[in-house]
Amino acid sequence: MQLQIAIDGPAASGKTTVARATARRLRMLYLDTGAMYRALAYLALRTGTDVDNGAALARLAATMPIEVELDESAPLGFRIFAGGAELDETVLAGNEVTAIVSAVAAHAEVRSAMVDAQRRIAGKGSVVMAGRDIGSVVLPGAAIKIFLTASLETRVARRRRQLEQAGVDVDAHGLGAELQERDRIDSTRAVSPLEPAPGAHLIDSSDIDADGVVDQICALVRSLCAERSRRKG
Ligand code: C5P
Repeated sequence: MQLQIAIDGPAASGKTTVARATARRLRMLYLDTGAMYRALAYLALRTGTDVDNGAALARLAATMPIEVELDESAPLGFRIFAGGAELDETVLAGNEVTAIVSAVAAHAEVRSAMVDAQRRIAGKGSVVMAGRDIGSVVLPGAAIKIFLTASLETRVARRRRQLEQAGVDVDAHGLGAELQERDRIDSTRAVSPLEPAPGAHLIDSSDIDADGVVDQICALVRSLCAERSRRKG
């Protein structure tokens, strides 16, 4: 039986670190869906496509497909290609992409193409998927749904570390404002706004490290398995 774990939450709340570590511990597949929206934002920059034109962005995604290859040993935990070229973290997490990704992701046409691709990937096996709408839209039947939050201060510190490691220029003063602005766009958009899915477990990771959050998720998986076998027996 396949297990699906959906991890949603605001920017830099630790979703990708936690999702990847959970997948590794439970030997499940892993995908960070934010990378797919970032890949399309990158293509929009490269081709000069208007980020306010949903139809043009959807056409772009159709002509220069964004492809994902699940591969735990890759630096990101998967490989991602846009129009045939592989993208790395320096490009995906770069400031130019970050500045427009929420505008790109707000369009219904873009989301429907991405959601279809994400569901196809989920069909490959038990999966941990991180994003904004995984528990609510992409995998509404996921057995375990997590809404991961953290204080703004914690999120700024995490994003700063991540960007420094990826070799991206960090504007320390602008980071908090950038995270809040993306959260504002993501939570107020008309289509699939960022909000806890019904039945999601809320975890505040301000004072817990990634391992601690993974422990909590694994405890939820154990009690779900115990419950299922009680019902069967
Ligand atoms: O998670 P990450 O910060 O890389 O996501 C980048 C952006 O992609 C988010 O701010 C959001 O606009 C969009 N996104 C989304 N739905 C997802 C994942 C990401 O709208 N499932």
